[in-house]
Amino acid sequence: MKYEGKAKRVYATAEPGEYIVEYKDDATAFNAQKRGSWVGKGATNNAITAHLYPQLEAAGVPTHFVRRLSDTEQLVKAVTIVPVEVIVRNVAAGSFSKRLGIEEGTPLTHPVVEYCYKSDALGDPLINTDTALSLGWATEPQLLRIRELALKIRGFLTPYFEQRGVRLIDFKLEFGTLPDGTVVLADEISPDTCRFWDAQTNEKMDKDRFRRDLGGIEDAYAEMLRRVTTEV
Ligand code: 5GP
Repeated sequence: MKYEGKAKRVYATAEPGEYIVEYKDDATAFNAQKRGSWVGKGATNNAITAHLYPQLEAAGVPTHFVRRLSDTEQLVKAVTIVPVEVIVRNVAAGSFSKRLGIEEGTPLTHPVVEYCYKSDALGDPLINTDTALSLGWATEPQLLRIRELALKIRGFLTPYFEQRGVRLIDFKLEFGTLPDGTVVLADEISPDTCRFWDAQTNEKMDKDRFRRDLGGIEDAYAEMLRRVTTEV
């Protein structure tokens, strides 16, 4: 095992350029102060990511994804993770609403791209690209590419979910670099990392059900898997 995070484990393989990612059933929130777990969470997030990443590749977004290996495992390209979490927002919610006093659900007239330093110890503090550049976390061309890819991903995902009766409120991305410096989308795209609201009812269908003790978390994740894999 190379690394164990809050929701995933990463294993080396016989092939130096490939890792296996195992999705766990564990969930944490508020910088791991809140912990939980439910059966099937790892499999659901693995399946959703494995469904979306090849489609993002086809839309011109290079990713680390190689193939799904089992219910809870996928093969990925070994990357060096850029320690910058990228958040893209379509609608005000969560920390954006809190920080700026903007009511949750207020549409944003322009997509908002935010950057956070990936640090559990510091609680992923908000930064800007100058900070990432000056501390050597990414180069200027990599940061430009990350923003370009983040917006391209938004351009693919927003209508994708809309066609399936889901409003994509915001989402978090992580990027990695291959040995030649190429930037690729890493990590996952799932109800753990996105806010999804039902288009008809605005009901939350994501990890906020766990964060805010709303109940019905298993059903919400299962319904998101069903919608993501629906052909339209
Ligand atoms: P916020 O900054 O409003 O808390 O989160 C914005 C979006 O990014 C939400 O969709 C949230 O799920 C996702 N996000 C932000 N930070 C993290 C994180 O550390 N882990 C996960 N899983 N998602 C995050």
